[in-house]
Amino acid sequence: MTKEYRGECAWGKEQWGQVKQDLQASVGSSNFTTWIEPLDLSEVADGVATFDVATTFFGNYVSQKFGDQILYHVRSVDPAIRRVHFKVPANNAQPAPRAPRPAKAAPVRDAQIPAAPLDKRFTFDSFVVGKPNELAHAAAKRVAEGGPVTFNPLFLYGGVGLGKTHLMHAIAWELQARQPDLNVLYLSAEQFMYRFVQALRERKMMDFKEMFRSVDVLMVDDVQFIAGKDSTQEEFFHTFNALVDQHKQIIISADRAPTEIENLEERIRSRLQCGLVVDLHPTNYELRLGILQSKVEYYRGQYPDVTLTDGVLEFLAHRISKNVRVLEGALTRLFAFASLIGKEITLELTQECLTDVLRASERQVTVEEIQRQVSDHYNIRLSDLVGPKRVRVFARPRQVAMFLSKEMTSRSLPEIGRRFGGRDHTTVMHGVRRIDELRREDGQIAEDLDLLRRTLEA
Ligand code: ADP
Ligand code: MG
Repeated sequence: MTKEYRGECAWGKEQWGQVKQDLQASVGSSNFTTWIEPLDLSEVADGVATFDVATTFFGNYVSQKFGDQILYHVRSVDPAIRRVHFKVPANNAQPAPRAPRPAKAAPVRDAQIPAAPLDKRFTFDSFVVGKPNELAHAAAKRVAEGGPVTFNPLFLYGGVGLGKTHLMHAIAWELQARQPDLNVLYLSAEQFMYRFVQALRERKMMDFKEMFRSVDVLMVDDVQFIAGKDSTQEEFFHTFNALVDQHKQIIISADRAPTEIENLEERIRSRLQCGLVVDLHPTNYELRLGILQSKVEYYRGQYPDVTLTDGVLEFLAHRISKNVRVLEGALTRLFAFASLIGKEITLELTQECLTDVLRASERQVTVEEIQRQVSDHYNIRLSDLVGPKRVRVFARPRQVAMFLSKEMTSRSLPEIGRRFGGRDHTTVMHGVRRIDELRREDGQIAEDLDLLRRTLEA
């Protein structure tokens, strides 16, 4: 089939190459490899960009999950495009060579429901263990041994980017290595729903049920996704029970504890809790440093000529939030940048290259927090701090709190005034100035400010 780019749209393969780079940043590298990379731009005409895909399932999935993002980025190059379309080429009886690889860890019998691909990098070897994740890691290791099922399900939960998916993939890899015949199925709750809906639509519910009930190990990632989706929950519940009855291992992850997932049916909630529930805590400094050190080993291999000054990793571990994904992204960017300009990674380079990341990671202190800390510090009631009384015991702490609000938050004077019992911005300005003067003259005030600021920043 010949490909043509006709009509008013001024772009084709080359521009798609650029758009792909933007998409990689916005969908993340594993989504990118699985779903975006295989897309083949076939035609741009009449405001529609058409992509060839290997299967209808693939096209539907990409359209549903990434359609908006693809359109958004495509339009930033050519606003004349109004729609993106995914189609299986007419002469494509065979799956295209660049179809997503079905998960090796999942020798699934029914090709209609392929498992989600597993990320090669997500193994136990590459998982750094520290206090915040040691329990989750130990539980995952135990399940990965594949012995008799002792806790069912294993429920892993924790905030974004703390390693839930990594641990699940690690379990799947290890199970596969130990018992190649085991039927391990890993997928996200979203994919579970998607496949369920598809089976309904194509009247293949029997296959669907049979398929899910024939797995030996079922892993469902991000189960919070099915909250509020009633028929999917129902089906999930039945699948779950059928597998538990057969003593098949189930591993579930979610971004919060079963008790905290809203709109989840009570019976599912209690089922989810009857195994082992472990959480991944936000990372601490030591774990972040450990992760950075292990990633740097990898980058040293990739960029042999880039050198790293002492203290950079410590700086990053200290300054970048709880989320490991952000930490990794920062390191990737740093190495790519340094290798591009052929420089050593110094603290200055780090600050320059990661300004936005560092800024986003700064802890945002709120006026309310400041008020709470200040009233604690001076041992007065919060209501007196923001209230109308003008006696010095309340007025001075109030001014201190206003001063800190001005310094530590991005609130304007009128906004601060509103949060202090609806005071005028000139009152706030006066308070801020007064403290600014006093901190030079009055050692006690200077000390108070210093202490408060440190507590708030901690
Ligand atoms: P979640 O599923 O909890 O949102 P992921 O498992 O996708 O998080 O982890 C985000 C990124 O951080 C992944 O690239 C993962 O490899 C990495 N990561 C998270 N925790 C660790 C860890 N303890 N050791 C090494 N890498 C980690
Ligand atoms: Mg995840």
